[in-house]
Amino acid sequence: MALTVGVIGGGQLARMMVPPAIGLGLEIEVLAENEGSSARIAATEVGDYHDADVVLAFAKGKDVITFDHEHVPQPVLKALVDAGVSVHPSPAALFVAQDKLVMRERLSAIGLPVPDWARLSAPADLQAFLDEHGGRCVVKTARGGYDGKGVRVVSDAAAVDDWFAQLSDDPAGIGAALLAEELVDFRRELAQSVARRPSGDVVAWPVVESIQRDGVCAEVIAPAPASAGRISDMAEEIARTVARELDVTGVLAVELFETTDDRVLINELAMRPHNTGHWSIDGSTTSQFEQHLRAVLDLPLGDTGTHDEWSVMVNVLGGPATGTIADRLPRAMADEPGAKIHDYGKDPRPGRKVGHVTTTGDDLDDVVYRARAAAEHFLD
Ligand code: ADP
Repeated sequence: MALTVGVIGGGQLARMMVPPAIGLGLEIEVLAENEGSSARIAATEVGDYHDADVVLAFAKGKDVITFDHEHVPQPVLKALVDAGVSVHPSPAALFVAQDKLVMRERLSAIGLPVPDWARLSAPADLQAFLDEHGGRCVVKTARGGYDGKGVRVVSDAAAVDDWFAQLSDDPAGIGAALLAEELVDFRRELAQSVARRPSGDVVAWPVVESIQRDGVCAEVIAPAPASAGRISDMAEEIARTVARELDVTGVLAVELFETTDDRVLINELAMRPHNTGHWSIDGSTTSQFEQHLRAVLDLPLGDTGTHDEWSVMVNVLGGPATGTIADRLPRAMADEPGAKIHDYGKDPRPGRKVGHVTTTGDDLDDVVYRARAAAEHFLD
């Protein structure tokens, strides 16, 4: 009988798990937030993932429950485990991904390299951190941030008074304290994805460079140029250690800073397929979405080799000012027949990730040019 995967969350990550599920003969069902979700093309139920009864009913008959995001509350995850449902990644692993302060504490305890950080309960704590770090630092909300929302560079202890006013124990809020970090002097941002099975095997894709604009990933180059050797070894070792120490199952993406003094520091963890791994759909023997399904089902993991020397992914943010990606497809297809265009089926809105384009080849300049040219079709 076909194995059945249940995915909680109906975003583009759930949507992109569908094609490999079809290929592998898996049944896949999604618990989406609303009718018009990106993943609506899979057999989709609509329901509130905060409600344990809804999630338990959805999990019935599934061989595994996995996720499109890390926001399912711990009591709901525990209810699943108590009911005997196989949940990957586990609640304990997700707990670390759900709160940036918990993440910093755990990574520091393991001895992994992270930026200098401190827990802030009041503006006086921020003043003390600023005094120690040359008068400038980064402040982050522990919970609820994404795409740079919840991240501010500050030089004044009063700059996050609005956040201090919102601190609470409510898991749906921004957290019980804020996180201060040194402002890292980085050369570039990298991301290392690995996948781990419950029985322990881990595979890694090449480390990639991610180019951010306004706190949002704009482009990814795989592999990161000039990363062979020391940088890629450090990135892979860090991600393998995180996966093992935190007992992560499925895909784990580790966002990294390559510093100007040649260190690699961890910025963030994502315990699911990640934007910086989208290139793998068209550029790797096993995409991160196929690998995630294999890993959470504890099936043998696939080869992470690449077809071409380079893959470049460009995000389509916001989408066309008039019409949809679908309206622009014929022109883009005609102009860039080698580009792989991915439309998430979402309504265009400023700043929203609505699709991406990937190109591959052996000449990086050409690959970058073609990816940008194809993405341009969807941006005006
Ligand atoms: P989000 O969870 O919203 O994606 P991140 O913590 O990943 O937020 O931060 C978003 C971006 O802000 C990062 O990709 C990086 O460009 C910048 N940033 C985050 N932390 C630091 C830091 N300590 N020093 C310098 N830049 C940072």
